[in-house]
Amino acid sequence: MWAGRVLHAALSRAPRGSRAQSALAQLRGILEEELESIRGAGTWKSERVITSCQGPHIHVDGAPGGIINFCANNYLGLSSHPEVIQAGLQNLKEFGAGLSSVRFICGTQSIHKDLEAKIARFHQREDAILYPSCFDANAGLFEALLTSEDAVLSDELNHASIIDGIRLCKAHKYRYRHLDMADLEAKLQEAQKHRLRLVATDGAFSMDGDIAPLQKICHLASQYGALVFVDESHATGFLGPTGRGTDELLGVMDQVTIINSTLGKALGGASGGYTTGPGALVSLLRQRARPYLFSNSLPPAAVGCASKALDLLMESNAIVQSMAAKTLRFRSQMEAAGFTISGANHPICPVMLGDARLALNIADDMLKRGIFVIGFSYPVVPKGKARIRVQISAVHSEEDIDRCVEAFVEVGRLHGALP
Ligand code: PLP
Repeated sequence: MWAGRVLHAALSRAPRGSRAQSALAQLRGILEEELESIRGAGTWKSERVITSCQGPHIHVDGAPGGIINFCANNYLGLSSHPEVIQAGLQNLKEFGAGLSSVRFICGTQSIHKDLEAKIARFHQREDAILYPSCFDANAGLFEALLTSEDAVLSDELNHASIIDGIRLCKAHKYRYRHLDMADLEAKLQEAQKHRLRLVATDGAFSMDGDIAPLQKICHLASQYGALVFVDESHATGFLGPTGRGTDELLGVMDQVTIINSTLGKALGGASGGYTTGPGALVSLLRQRARPYLFSNSLPPAAVGCASKALDLLMESNAIVQSMAAKTLRFRSQMEAAGFTISGANHPICPVMLGDARLALNIADDMLKRGIFVIGFSYPVVPKGKARIRVQISAVHSEEDIDRCVEAFVEVGRLHGALP
């Protein structure tokens, strides 16, 4: 709609009969065809507009009254934590809106250095480097680290940003079947001829809430002389007894070489990403990683929010435990009601429904009952595996969880998903 108006305005400004006008008309035709094909494939993504801040209770444009939100990566509820907001405001006042510069020109402030040191401490690694996002951290890492002499072995269901980051590098690429350790081993054997081998995996996979078998991955890596890289975007801050992530949960903190993660989910949810690992690797990334070298430094307010989120987590693991207890409450009640919930005790709780239309209709009816959840279907997930993804947060009350389960049972019966 908007693109159409812009093109229409541009077309009416171009001189009639000019080549510019016909090029724009051609572009308009191409774009409209492309957009129509997205609509036709049923994969059009529309956005619900939230008119409040992120939290367990939100206001959504077009939906009367408050909504209970089960559709956010705000796992610890820190996005609207008063101390996190205050820390962001303090940095905004003291350090300004931003630096209008990349880090190595004049974009580095003391707060950036402090946050990098804190991240490294949190993960018990030598050093850390900040990026504008974890998407950028993934875009920067592989190209800077690996050459055509090396190999990267990647889980087939890794996040799009890992896939794109790997595409940018010259290393030999091996894709192993999702969580399939026999396939990884076969690929590691094939990759023995290369200089370095890097196994790359998400720690927790966001569509299924399943967790990479890091103990086995690290064991194979040690057997075949490989390094291990884990994207902890859906784990940092809340998996493991003190929220350090999947490596802590599975007892392999000393065996995972490189971690990338985001500040845009559990750690306050503002924005930002990072790599943490060996000091020499971080030094190399500061010299070579293109998203670091050619993009603005992280805004002070975002730095303040993330830094306070880490402080809160390092002081106590009460928030982490509260999230785990609520996840268990939701999963066990839903399973007792007859639903299948995929994944392994992760706050991502995919309610498996199979049929795409059923998932869509149930999600719509849940919203009518004041519960915000989203249905996922092909091509985001495999055909026949449509689901509604519910995400639990430490700041949901037990009553919120129970209301969500009750609504699922009611709507599920209405649509024949439950007997
Ligand atoms: N990696 C994973 C596994 C993710 O789920 C996401 C975000 O959805 C990202 C990276 C990108 O994170 P960011 O929002 O910081 O770019």
